[in-house]
Amino acid sequence: MKTKTTTLLVIGGGPGGYVAAIRAGQLGVPTVLVEGDRLGGTCLNIGCIPSKALIHVADEFARACHFSNGNALGIHVEKPAIDLAQAQAWKDGVVGKLTGGVGALLRKNGVQVVKGWARIVDGKTVEVAVQEGEPLRIQCEHLLLATGSVPVSLPHLPIGGNVVSSTEALALTHKPKHLVVVGAGYIGLELGIAWRKLGAEVAVVEAAATVLPTYDEELTKPVLASLRKLGITLHLNTKAEGLTDSGGLRVRSSNADEFVLPADKVLVAVGRVPRTAGFGLESLQLDMAGRAVKVDEQCRTSMRNVWAIGDLAGEPMLAHRAMAQGEMVAEIVAGKKRRFAPLAIPAVCFTDPELVVAGLSPAEAEARGIEVTVASFPFGANGRALSMEGGEGFVRVVARRETQQVLGWQAVGKGVSELSAAFCYAIEMGARLEDVGSIIHAHPTLGEAVQETALRALGHALHI
Ligand code: FAD
Ligand code: NAD
Repeated sequence: MKTKTTTLLVIGGGPGGYVAAIRAGQLGVPTVLVEGDRLGGTCLNIGCIPSKALIHVADEFARACHFSNGNALGIHVEKPAIDLAQAQAWKDGVVGKLTGGVGALLRKNGVQVVKGWARIVDGKTVEVAVQEGEPLRIQCEHLLLATGSVPVSLPHLPIGGNVVSSTEALALTHKPKHLVVVGAGYIGLELGIAWRKLGAEVAVVEAAATVLPTYDEELTKPVLASLRKLGITLHLNTKAEGLTDSGGLRVRSSNADEFVLPADKVLVAVGRVPRTAGFGLESLQLDMAGRAVKVDEQCRTSMRNVWAIGDLAGEPMLAHRAMAQGEMVAEIVAGKKRRFAPLAIPAVCFTDPELVVAGLSPAEAEARGIEVTVASFPFGANGRALSMEGGEGFVRVVARRETQQVLGWQAVGKGVSELSAAFCYAIEMGARLEDVGSIIHAHPTLGEAVQETALRALGHALHI
């Protein structure tokens, strides 16, 4: 077996691992990154990027269909058609560009990439079944675990055949006639809406009483209305029981009604869990936090110089959190003083309409015993939103009553994902309502609704 020594060894080339490796390389830390599959991890290959590309295809197709059906704008087009194989090839091209870019960045920063599956021997030694060539033993001073997560599977609905996970649902080249989505969370709704817009009949089966159950009702109400308008059938308080012999999906509602939904594809999207099995992690006997590896505010595990980041380290399982943790660990290994204590990790749900949250919600503030002022501003009073047929939804702010310091933002509406940056700046920079209210926001933009929300919380909104 060949051997190699390094200062930092990263297992996993997703957003957590590759960012850690790039930053370590920038800081002159000898770094090896081991990836068993494709650089870019879940996010770039089978997650964030292909899903947003597919959502874009679906949106454009739905727009064309909308215009072919008569519309207020006076645009006329013939009935559109879509070549799904070509759309998938375009999506794969976007993924390829980004993953190729990650490889180039790693090379540029002197990171050695080893292609193969890593197996942990001890906290300083890893063996890799290298894809080409003989096995490799790597010895390191610091071991960074960034192995990500895997989808939760339902025992009575294992993935295979017509039962698919998000990975297969993102790659279909034929439109399913009847798609049943199990789970109305991020993946279920993002992909369910996309396939509905691409022409499939979509039914969503959700165990909870509402969609996106981690968000409050005020926020999810416009999403619910949109699902209904799109013609997606919702079965709330309902669980999937298994496939019938004829390929339908048997479901049971909380009041014990059992019925069968027609399904030529079933997408199971009931959450993801940290990837902790199959690579010798158990041999380290690390402290765990539920199914995730337990870490402190520097992403240190319970073993010295063994670090864990991203989905492996638990919720929120979001790419930007993984990247921020990766960058931080690289800097600590290089001798810098850092800790991971963000006031806001924004979360965006790319549904139609989009939904974004950053910092504390009114309920979270209340649970912490903080007295807050809460105010919202509707997009129906925002010129930009109305001029792009996006008058639904609102921006909401949560501020500490005593000091008017902004603690949180929530928004739902067309294109609100791009407001997440403004939301986080205000929270992380300790802005007060007055600061946001007195900044000149360009007109006409959705950003004006952010300013107006702050003004409304102060009692003097201008446009409502
Ligand atoms: P991963 O990206 O999962 O990367 C882990 C890597 O480790 C993988 O490449 C894997 O092959 C490798 N690996 C594992 N074990 C080994 C081993 N033993 N040896 C070698 N290599 C190994 N998040 C967002 O913020 N925004 C979104 O819009 C978004 N959309 C999503 C859509 C979908 C459909 C899915 C499934 C997820 C989405 N996410 C989104 C979540 C996001 O993808 C994850 O939070 C993010 O990828 C986590 O990064 P990570 O580096 O922790 O792990
Ligand atoms: P999720 O946790 O967002 O949603 C799972 C849903 O399934 C929940 O609503 C839950 O109540 C429901 N559910 C659970 N068991 C069920 C059952 N037996 N029958 C019916 N419903 C059931 O999980 P997800 O949609 O699989 O996404 C996984 C993770 O991936 C997310 O939590 C997020 O971290 C990440 N992600 C993020 C984005 C984004 O940032 N835009 C997009 C996709 C995925």
